[in-house]
Amino acid sequence: MKRIKFYLDFDGTITQNDVVDLILDRFADKSWQKVEKEWQEGKIGSRECLTRQLKLVKASPEDLKKLCGEVAVDPHFTPFLNLALKMECKVTIVSDGFGFVIRNVLERHLSDYPDILKSIPVYSNEIEWTGSGVKAVFNSPDLCRHKCANCKPEVIKNSAWPDDTVLFVGDGLSDRFASQIASLTFAKGKLLQYCKDNELAYEAYTDFGDVQKWFLKNYDSLKSRYAIQPSA
Ligand SMILES: [Mg+2]
Ligand SMILES: [Zn+2]
Repeated sequence: MKRIKFYLDFDGTITQNDVVDLILDRFADKSWQKVEKEWQEGKIGSRECLTRQLKLVKASPEDLKKLCGEVAVDPHFTPFLNLALKMECKVTIVSDGFGFVIRNVLERHLSDYPDILKSIPVYSNEIEWTGSGVKAVFNSPDLCRHKCANCKPEVIKNSAWPDDTVLFVGDGLSDRFASQIASLTFAKGKLLQYCKDNELAYEAYTDFGDVQKWFLKNYDSLKSRYAIQPSA
């Protein structure tokens, strides 16, 4: 059955800040920024980037929980979520960040909606505590061709049918491969420029209020207008 499926980035999209950057900023040796630059310049994939960056982090689970408690969520996120699920769209979170952070932030933010929380699959990386620090753990043993930590287009291809309408919402460089295969991408930040430069199908947005408005306005025509890109 043809369905509309939303795939949402987490850091900087659902949250107002990139929580991975916050963790590194607060708890890592500042050489993490050099690694970040290598990734931004396309010299390394996100898997190598996160592996090297997390080796620079010294933080306890309590430290990270406390930081998660400071993270602000887009105020339009919960209304959007309620609407999308009410309209029988599947909503999935696909993140190149860490499950520990995502669960922590969402459990707090959606504490009034336990059923919604349970209904949203989350695909992400994991963080593990070692004797002296932390390390990044990846769910897929195989490296994709982009060398992603968590390959967003792979997640989409493995969980959407070819005739589903895939709506992706993101903000950053880790979203660029997903936007290549999405039927339509809601883009802000660096992702917006990327979508423009590469002439992808996109809508600029500021927050989930914009996504919701667009969705309500275009719902009737949506299923016929967009299809997942078959060749990507
Ligand atoms: Mg992001
Ligand atoms: Zn990839």
